[in-house]
Amino acid sequence: MNNHVTVLEIEGNAITHNLNYFRQKLHPETKILAVVKAFGYGSDGVKVASFLKDKVDYFAVAYSHEGVALRQADIKTPILVLHPQSQNIDLIVQYQLEPSLYNFNILNAFLSFTEKQLLTEYPIHLKFNTGLNRLGFCNNDVPKLMSSLGESKYHKIVSILSHLAASEDTSERDFTLTQLNNFNSIIKEVDTYLDYKPIIHALNTSGVINYPEAQFDMVRIGIGLYGFGNNKEETSKLKNSHVLKSVISQIHTIKKGETVGYNRAFKAKRLTKTATIPIGHADGISRKLGNNKGYVTIRDKKAWIVGNVCMDMIMVDISSINCDEGDEVFIFKNQEDILFMASITNTISYEILTMISQRIKRFLRF
Ligand SMILES: *Cc1c(COP(=O)(O)O)cnc(C)c1O
Repeated sequence: MNNHVTVLEIEGNAITHNLNYFRQKLHPETKILAVVKAFGYGSDGVKVASFLKDKVDYFAVAYSHEGVALRQADIKTPILVLHPQSQNIDLIVQYQLEPSLYNFNILNAFLSFTEKQLLTEYPIHLKFNTGLNRLGFCNNDVPKLMSSLGESKYHKIVSILSHLAASEDTSERDFTLTQLNNFNSIIKEVDTYLDYKPIIHALNTSGVINYPEAQFDMVRIGIGLYGFGNNKEETSKLKNSHVLKSVISQIHTIKKGETVGYNRAFKAKRLTKTATIPIGHADGISRKLGNNKGYVTIRDKKAWIVGNVCMDMIMVDISSINCDEGDEVFIFKNQEDILFMASITNTISYEILTMISQRIKRFLRF
């Protein structure tokens, strides 16, 4: 049971809006894969996927247990596991998850499993490294790879993918075009071994924004679904899906010279009113936001954080806000709030969203 008053509202309508926004950028036949890894970018992967299951062609998760959670919620949509390991192959097959195979270790382990179990055309995906240098076969691997795969009936290559290293960075356009060229030649080479056409895909959110000509047969949209493009203009066309809210637990009146919080980090220069909010650094509110660096919103006004961020609470200055104990507090409600938090803590929207702890209760609203 979780009856925490600090809640993350997942805005279903925002996600649908964002999905439609990307859909209208694409050819009508291009498939959409929704990336719901890391609890749906810190929201709730199962809730998001249940909501999207009839609206997208594929889901992707990073690790197999994330895919298992979707299957246990009765989601039947194909699920790509981006980072499978040989330790989870039986789980992958048991839950009908589809591995993205990236080296000979995992490939051989998977192929011997499908053969031993006498599986029929089990869906597999081949991941190629074209410059990110994270996971993937390299272009020289194609002949050996295709001979390892043979003409077996135990598996079927459903898709071939690669991942861009700097799709959001227009100053890296030449590098990205080289990656896409490499990928194109890999596809051509693989094609000479096959008598069917796997799904080809390379683009993430900012890839769709900057390189729509490379959409191939499918695109993989993550952060865009949750409201962030790779620049201000794109982000302004999207809707924020993560609304983090709480309530005022207690209000204090602090006299001049008194202090607030651990290490007495805040010393009142004048009569100050503070509100204590039940969210802290254990919930993903960085300590870097303490001491007037970060704010929350109460009755449409910014209330800046006073003193140090505690593990489970923050105190905020409400001297000029007319509010009461029990009032609603937005930790963030729009992209501007999230991007401000990211800039103060020296990070990106992805990290702000995925840092929201599992202690916080989640709701999907639509
Ligand atoms: C996380 C991930 C994505 C989604 O990226 P966004 O920038 O969030 O759209 C796509 N492809 C791969 C391989 C990923 O790991």
